Amino acid sequence: MDIISVKNDENWNNWKWQIKNRILTIQELSKIIDLDDAEKEALKSNLLLPLAITPYYASLLDKKDTKQPLRKTVIPRVEENICSAGENKDPLDEDRYSPVPGIIHRYPDRVLFLVTNFCSTFCRYCTRSRIISKEEIYKNHWVSAIKYIKSNSSIRDVLISGGDPLTLSDTKLDWLLGELRNIPHIEFIRIGTKVPVVLPMRITDNLIRVLKRYHPLWITIHFTHPEEITPETSKACNALADAGIPLGSQTVLLKDVNDDVEILKNLFHKLLTIRVRPYYLYQCDPILGSSHFRTPIATGLNIISKLRGFTTGYAVPNYVIDAPGGGGKVLLLPKSILGKKDGYFMFKNYKGEVYRYPDF
Ligand SMILES: *Cc1c(COP(=O)(O)O)cnc(C)c1O
Repeated sequence: MDIISVKNDENWNNWKWQIKNRILTIQELSKIIDLDDAEKEALKSNLLLPLAITPYYASLLDKKDTKQPLRKTVIPRVEENICSAGENKDPLDEDRYSPVPGIIHRYPDRVLFLVTNFCSTFCRYCTRSRIISKEEIYKNHWVSAIKYIKSNSSIRDVLISGGDPLTLSDTKLDWLLGELRNIPHIEFIRIGTKVPVVLPMRITDNLIRVLKRYHPLWITIHFTHPEEITPETSKACNALADAGIPLGSQTVLLKDVNDDVEILKNLFHKLLTIRVRPYYLYQCDPILGSSHFRTPIATGLNIISKLRGFTTGYAVPNYVIDAPGGGGKVLLLPKSILGKKDGYFMFKNYKGEVYRYPDF
């Protein structure tokens, strides 16, 4: 019997069981899906990022179709072992912006706090694959990180990420959020997670009770493809939204996974129905072995130009590059400004028609 055939058992909805029974080896994976030669070769090689998939997410994978987008996001391919020009294990230079372990202080008024390097499911294009599941990093670093935030009154916003923060126990999250909420200059706390997508049963009533105590709390969820929006994920997002937590999504633009207007439009529309506002669409970071995932920037600009105006403004995320070398996120927009003529500001609308505004 394989691990996804127990879908109707009571254990299935226990998030700790899901974590304990993650698919970590080629043997376990080949019991549930038919691997092609390239996937097998990749799985037998010495991967920079190991394999890890929750049974729940594995149950969304197509047994036969190796071209299925969801398969590509979590099953290694041989191309991962090819490093190309411009790639780097820490492309955003996060380590250089880290004053104490786990804190990345790039912008003046906010910090990224990497609270754990554990994640339930490993995305093959993970920006932080360099730290994911590496035992030695981030042990007992919370106290010094919190002390850093306390002693810097310019920090008003803490973004808790990892790894995946929602894989921590309720008790630990309760303590952590309590510590941060007690700092007078912290106005805003947010959590970055993929849990509602890869481990939706983690969104328990008790977790909701804990999170609700620390408002204003926002959550940004990593969504990749419309096939991820299942009844389980919808239920998890609705429970979070009902707890008054504003939800956003972050999506990485990935070749042959979601680099298509119809796929992304469908994803963004579905997200609005479960009260998740598309926040960022990321150009894929140039981590080692990512060339098979990266699209030309023109692809992203074209997608945005086909969304803006053609659909609900809420369904159009900000398309950004996180600047390699640590420059921060930079917004990329299709060109709409044409310049100035006789005091009039000239610009194009979504259909490409030229309009002018008296700008004297
Ligand atoms: C993305 C990011 C943030 C948050 O950026 P926003 O644009 O405010 O969402 C903060 N710090 C770091 C290091 C980041 O990478």
